[in-house]
Amino acid sequence: MKSAPNDWPGVVRAYAEYLPVDDSTPVITIQEGNTPLIPVPNFVEKIGGRFSLFLKYEALNPTCSFKDRGMTMAMTKAVERGAKVVVCASTGNTSAAAAAYAARAGVKCAVLIPDGKIALGKLAQALMYGAQTVAIRGNFDQALNIVRQLGEDPEIEIVNSINPYRIEGQKTAAFEICDQLGRAPDFHFIPVGNAGNITAYWKGFLEYHKAGKCSSLPRMFGFQAAGSAPIVEGHPIENPETVATAIRIGNPASWQGALDARDQSNGFIGKVTDEEILEAYKLIARTEGILVEPACAAPLAGLIKTLKNQPGVIPADAVITATMTGHGLKDPDTAISASGFEPVRTDATHEAVLAALKS
Ligand SMILES: *Cc1c(COP(=O)(O)O)cnc(C)c1O
Repeated sequence: MKSAPNDWPGVVRAYAEYLPVDDSTPVITIQEGNTPLIPVPNFVEKIGGRFSLFLKYEALNPTCSFKDRGMTMAMTKAVERGAKVVVCASTGNTSAAAAAYAARAGVKCAVLIPDGKIALGKLAQALMYGAQTVAIRGNFDQALNIVRQLGEDPEIEIVNSINPYRIEGQKTAAFEICDQLGRAPDFHFIPVGNAGNITAYWKGFLEYHKAGKCSSLPRMFGFQAAGSAPIVEGHPIENPETVATAIRIGNPASWQGALDARDQSNGFIGKVTDEEILEAYKLIARTEGILVEPACAAPLAGLIKTLKNQPGVIPADAVITATMTGHGLKDPDTAISASGFEPVRTDATHEAVLAALKS
């Protein structure tokens, strides 16, 4: 089928020379990628910074999270090798992306989610795209263990980030940032859950640097939620907890990748409390009109914390990017409760509304 003129072809075709594909690869795409890099000067002013901050707004992918970048690649390779079924464990966004790309590819999809612990929008997505959805009485780490066992069947492809193609697809976000800025940032801030994304970004920056597309490399600053901060604590967390369900992970699959990104980039992996996460979550919405998932607020809270606790780490003229991994509308419950107020109810008259607005 012909595509419309000037259509963005999706990340696999756009960055084919950096990916394990050739002309005969059957690319499964929903035109993911090419997301905006939004300057947020009001937010920077509010937190007392003087640097430039740009948000890579991954909410504008087809399923409203960065997971689509990895999923187009993983699904493409699964279809290429003839897999009939894809499975994943998910805190929500991986299942949404897997379900969507499986629908596009015409393969069966099963997703394992922690019962009651995924945001409402993500559950709606998995169900609507038609994935077989299994809610286990357990957490993400337990779901991933079961998926690893299911994946021993050769007909079944695991599309979690333990699938190396996911990381390959996700690294394209680092390419886009360099293309959009015309250089690499000085710092890149990112939430850390299973740690696939920080691993992928670092790989992407390294590859672009090696290819001569950027002349420097960023320092990678990752942030975990305090109740699920295995990398910061230095050991797996048995019962991870946080309001940021997308990073509620106690034993990250790409743990080593995160450490390498930190150490090789002279970076940092820290933790922020749920309170700090919710503050940053509200602040970015109210200063810039950008609604993100609570997980995305972890690196924003981390930036605020870095400014406060480690003054001097971030030079005044620094160029900083941060990944906003998913859309705020995925988790309406948290948005409504964090907003701090409710609609005022009045009669449907001019006077009543005026009175309500003045109160
Ligand atoms: C998956 C996800 C993360 C965590 O990414 P990892 O690669 O697991 O570290 C963060 N935020 C959102 C919205 C996600 O969906």
